[in-house]
Amino acid sequence: MRQQIVAGNWKMNTLLPEGAALAEAIVGRLPGKPPCQVVLAVPFTHLRTVYDIVWENPNIGLGAQNCHQAGKGAFTGEVSADMLVSAGVEWVILGHSERRQFFGETDALLASKVDAVLARGLRPIFCCGEPLDIRESAGHEAYVAGQLERGLFHLDAEAIRQVVIAYEPIWAIGTGRTASAEQAQAMHASIRALISSHYGDAIGQHVPLLYGGSCNPQNAATLFALPDVDGGLIGGASLQADDFLAIIASIQPES
Ligand code: PEP
Repeated sequence: MRQQIVAGNWKMNTLLPEGAALAEAIVGRLPGKPPCQVVLAVPFTHLRTVYDIVWENPNIGLGAQNCHQAGKGAFTGEVSADMLVSAGVEWVILGHSERRQFFGETDALLASKVDAVLARGLRPIFCCGEPLDIRESAGHEAYVAGQLERGLFHLDAEAIRQVVIAYEPIWAIGTGRTASAEQAQAMHASIRALISSHYGDAIGQHVPLLYGGSCNPQNAATLFALPDVDGGLIGGASLQADDFLAIIASIQPES
């Protein structure tokens, strides 16, 4: 049985009091036994405050949105995996398309970030996904395969079991244009087949694959019901407690 996860990516949103109120609202209204693991990936400045709000709830994990690859040192403005661990973080989003696009993060750099995060016992949520022109020229499966080959597939079998992959087509992020069920399922099946071809079917069946890109309370149930979609990475809709809780409630627990 694969782990099902709904992770909220707050990006660079909310001031600290708003973020605290949002976390309080989510924790306060989450059912005692939610249908999935919940992750709140909040800005660095909010980590400790949100930790104090969520730490007693075993169903909610604290996430960061980035991490430096080095252990420590003269890297002004950066945050290490050890620092994240010391703040109570368990999950780290890596390779979000905004970090690739605006901060020049390459697959090679991301491979070293994945290593740093895993070495400290954190779980990476590794993002992949194609731009619109690649989708329109039908190059999307090869494009995503390349991102995974270069960013993740240097890991050994034990390490890859700790990874979560988020497929986020760039044309769907923050645009209101969600991938169709067919598009999402086809890409997730292709990613799973790729993992299986590298690591064997048991691991292919183990790694959770999240969908991200304009997921909302109206489309979440359809997406999460797809055989190879194990939850979602949620941007805009994670900033409203009602919407985020409704998306969580769209997960059908596996029997
Ligand atoms: C994201 O940026 O990870 C994301 C999925 O954003 P949105 O849900 O707003 O499209």
